Amino acid sequence: MSENLYDVLGVAHDASADEIKRAYRKLARKLHPDTNPDDPESEARFKQVAQAYEVLSDPAARERYDRFGSVDGFDFGDPFGGGGGLGDLFDAFFGGASPFGGGGGRGRGPAGPPRGPDIEVVAVLEFADAVFGAKHEVKVRTAIACDVCEGSGATPGSEPTTCPDCNGSGEQRMVRQTMLGQIVSASVCRRCQGQGQIVTDPCSECRGEGRTIVDKTYTVDIPAGVDTGSTLRLTGRGAVGPRSGPAGDLYVKIKVRPHDRFQRQGYDLLEDLPVSMTQAALGHHLSYETLDGVEDLVIPRGTQSGRVFRLRHRGVPHVEGRGRGDLLVRVVVMTPQDLDAEQEDLLERFAELRGEEVARPDTGLLSKIRSAFR
Ligand SMILES: [Zn+2]
Ligand SMILES: [Zn+2]
Repeated sequence: MSENLYDVLGVAHDASADEIKRAYRKLARKLHPDTNPDDPESEARFKQVAQAYEVLSDPAARERYDRFGSVDGFDFGDPFGGGGGLGDLFDAFFGGASPFGGGGGRGRGPAGPPRGPDIEVVAVLEFADAVFGAKHEVKVRTAIACDVCEGSGATPGSEPTTCPDCNGSGEQRMVRQTMLGQIVSASVCRRCQGQGQIVTDPCSECRGEGRTIVDKTYTVDIPAGVDTGSTLRLTGRGAVGPRSGPAGDLYVKIKVRPHDRFQRQGYDLLEDLPVSMTQAALGHHLSYETLDGVEDLVIPRGTQSGRVFRLRHRGVPHVEGRGRGDLLVRVVVMTPQDLDAEQEDLLERFAELRGEEVARPDTGLLSKIRSAFR
C-alpha cells in the first residue's frame, strides 16, 4: 500500500477518530461491491479504504503508521493468523457471548469498535470452472451495518456519547502507591467494553449493535487454476464489526468436483486412454477430446501399454502468472476378454506365425471337446 492512508479516506492527518469513522462509513457505502457489481476499480478502492480504516481506526497501528510512515509489520491478516476466529459471527450473535466481544481485535488498541469477524465459505466448483476460472455465487450469513442507525447503534437523531468512565479512551487506569513507587495498570473499560463510547438511546432495529444479520449472495471471481484446498481472501467482505467496526474478510475455500476422465497432478492433467491390442499394434489415429476441444492424436504402430503422450499446454493454467501445464495421455492397451471361437482360432494362428508358445491354462478338457466336434 503505497498511497497515503489519510488520503485514501480523504481525511486530514489530525482527523479525530470520529471523523475517520464517518469518512470510512461514507466511502464504504459508496464503494461497496454490492452497490458496484462488476466494477473492479470500485472494488480495489473498497479494499484500500477497508485497509486504511483498519490501520487508522486502531490507535496503536495509527501511531505506528504516523511515526514510520508505513505499515510494514502490521498484520493485515494472513489468512488464519491473528484474532477474528471464523465462526465468531455465530458465537457473537447466537452463542450468547458478549455482543461486542466477537471478532477480530488483531492487535488493536483498546478504543474503537472491534473489527468484524472473518467468514469462511466453501465453494464447490465444476472441474472445468476450476481450470479456466469462472464467476461463482456463494451464499453467506453475515452482518451488515444496520440501515436504520447507519451502523452507529444509536437511535437516529441521537449520537453515541463519550464513555464517562474512561473519557473515551476505552481503558481504565488504576494508579496505586506502593513502597516501590507508583504502579499504573490499565484494563479494558467495563462500561463501554473498550469502545470509548456508549449508546444511551439504542437503535430499536439492532438494539444498539449497529449491525444486522442477513443472508447474502456474493459473486466471486474464481481465478483460473485453483484446486481443492485453494483459499481466496476477499478483503473487507466479511461481517462488519459492531457499531461500524471495520469488516472482516471473506475466505472462500475451494473444493473441486472430480472429472470423469481427467485427474489433476499439480498443473498437469492425466488421463488413462484405453486402446485396443490391434490399435496399439497397427497404429491408430483418433479424435481426442481435451478440455479445449477436439484434437488429433496419433498412436504410432507398436505402442506399448503405459506409454505417455504429452499434449503441451493443454493442462491447467498457472493460478499465478503465465503458462499452463500439460495434458498427459497414458495408453492402456486393453487385452480382449470376450473372444469367440473364430477370434481364438485367429489368435492361435497369429501366435503360430509369430513363433510364440502359448500354453493355455484351459487346454485340456475344453480343447479336446472342441477338436472332437471339428
Ligand atoms: Zn440500528
Ligand atoms: Zn469506557
